[in-house]
Amino acid sequence: MRFALDHAHYANQKSENPFLLALADGGFQVGEMAKLHHPLGKDCKAKDNEVALEETNRWIEEGESVIFEAALKSGFKYIRVDILEITDTEIRVIEVKSKSVKGSGSEQLFGKRGKIDSTWRPYLEDVAFQVCVAREYFSSRGINLPVRGFLMCPDKTKTSSIDGLHEHFIIRRDHRGRAFCDVNSELTISMLGESMMSVVDANLGIEAVISDTESYGKEGWECTTFEGAIHWLEDLLKMNDRGLKIPYLPVGHHCASCSFTTPNELTAEGKISGRRECFERGMQWDQVEFEKPKVWDVWNLRSKRAIIEEGRWFMHEMTEDDFKQDLTDPTELSDQDELPRAQRQWIQISASRGEFKDVYLDTEGLEKKISKFKWPLHFIDFETTAPAIPFYKGYVPYQGVSFQFSHHVLHKDGTLKHAGQFLGPGLGNDPTYAFVEALYEELTQDDGSVFMYSHHENTYLNYAHSLLRASSPFDDVKTKNLLIFLESLTWSSGANKGLWDAGDRVMIDMAKLVRSHFWHPDMSGSNSIKAVLPAVLNASKELQVKYMEPIYGTSAMPSLNRSEGYSWIVRTSDGKVEDPYALLPKIGQDSLGEDLLTIERLYADDKVGNGGAAMTAWSFMQFAQMADEERRELLEALKHYCELDTIAMAFIMEYFLIEISKQ
Ligand code: SF4
Repeated sequence: MRFALDHAHYANQKSENPFLLALADGGFQVGEMAKLHHPLGKDCKAKDNEVALEETNRWIEEGESVIFEAALKSGFKYIRVDILEITDTEIRVIEVKSKSVKGSGSEQLFGKRGKIDSTWRPYLEDVAFQVCVAREYFSSRGINLPVRGFLMCPDKTKTSSIDGLHEHFIIRRDHRGRAFCDVNSELTISMLGESMMSVVDANLGIEAVISDTESYGKEGWECTTFEGAIHWLEDLLKMNDRGLKIPYLPVGHHCASCSFTTPNELTAEGKISGRRECFERGMQWDQVEFEKPKVWDVWNLRSKRAIIEEGRWFMHEMTEDDFKQDLTDPTELSDQDELPRAQRQWIQISASRGEFKDVYLDTEGLEKKISKFKWPLHFIDFETTAPAIPFYKGYVPYQGVSFQFSHHVLHKDGTLKHAGQFLGPGLGNDPTYAFVEALYEELTQDDGSVFMYSHHENTYLNYAHSLLRASSPFDDVKTKNLLIFLESLTWSSGANKGLWDAGDRVMIDMAKLVRSHFWHPDMSGSNSIKAVLPAVLNASKELQVKYMEPIYGTSAMPSLNRSEGYSWIVRTSDGKVEDPYALLPKIGQDSLGEDLLTIERLYADDKVGNGGAAMTAWSFMQFAQMADEERRELLEALKHYCELDTIAMAFIMEYFLIEISKQ
């Protein structure tokens, strides 16, 4: 709280722009749709706390029964309730979330042993806090009705009964240039067809949070229960209000995911690192300690908590004993194709201890695999989205839509070509059908091996398979051909699991190839393509020499988006190769502003992939009123972005081939 209250001075990796966060996860659409379920609701639009409180108070006194964004305050506790409903018998606090539900049963909030499901806990804590504040607020006004909490969410068991739901929610800009969602005042819920939302009674979950005596007695916390935590945090707010400094809390394993950080804990863009302050004070760390590689930076380390609780913060304090269990765990060793996780972690730790300074490259293992690939090699990358409220009739919430791909081909003689790309504008039509058609045309010219980076492409081709089976715009013969094509590239997953066996042209996961055979100090704990590409370019003198020349985009190396020779190698002031991703204009920078960087950060981890900016920009295009020129620029930026993802894969493969040829 010390740092959260002082955002002028402290960096915070979590976005403070609720609109862009909502755009990224579809929450603004969900919020507006939820309001339509209460046509008589009064919308408290005031941003200023005091004005909003005064307006809410007045409406409650006037007997309004539904208030959106109702502002309630008790002591130092201030909340905005998404939907406050006051009936003759109870007061309902309805929290609207974009997290999906399956039906309206409250049992989904709990795990198998009857404990709160960990994915629901933050949502339940949110609504529990609001219920506690609302109880105090209404009780202080002599209104002693029971206050109950509910969650209103998109329901994955419901399908959209109309096309183009999103067209009713337009993004506009206010006089200060800030984006907001504009809904036609004539719009009613019946015009949107069947409701996509369900209300889940959260009261059992709220009671479970309030009666929980195990989760809120953490070291340094002056409380043992949820309500105790509320009172303690309120006391801290009172201190802050009186100008007193809020005390530092003890550092611990939880600091691994602290959001008040900066790169290397150094002051950046005028903001300082709160984490640095905590460790300077709590552990007396100086610059030497801040520069040492930390346990929390080890890739995918599950025993992080236990190691830090033993007081070991630095990678050099880890020993092989920390990995013994993993190295003998049969589930870890079951996939003989892949380097065991613990071994890869140990490579990272050994490098941090100075035991080797260069790259780890298993050319022997790579050669074995590469010898089985069929030429030419095809590198593909998809950009996709999964909107909370579907854009198209018959779709369920969060159904995947593939809107863009890029395709590079590398021939055995070294010829590299940007062979194809697809970018569907959407705007009322599902681009997935045309996407699959275009991909079919691209990849059926030969039977060369096809590469993806991570499993994302497999997941979305499975979605496309389901979509074609359910409703295809093509004739039976073409549909069957497309289904066979999709099956040839994929293994059946998700809802399709077991429907077909992986074919002999199944896509090869390049991220797995990297994880198994390559590590570079610049990658640190990440295997995302954005970390691997600069590492490969810095590791390979041959690639540097080749791509220093402006050959990309010429007839020697054609590109669909660059018509003049382009050099991929630009040096930084310290002589390293500049990250090619950093040289691209940020997608949607003009339309979405600087906060797009925050969206990028949100999606920049290995699990979710790197398509956050593309997804947000494309979604923005579906909703926003944009000039043709603005839309054209956004589409061009998206093409460059996706093209870089596939040429990055080609560069990585070229690097592997060069190093193998040296053996
Ligand atoms: S470093 Fe740790 S104690 Fe300090 S703010 Fe971050 S998580 Fe909290």
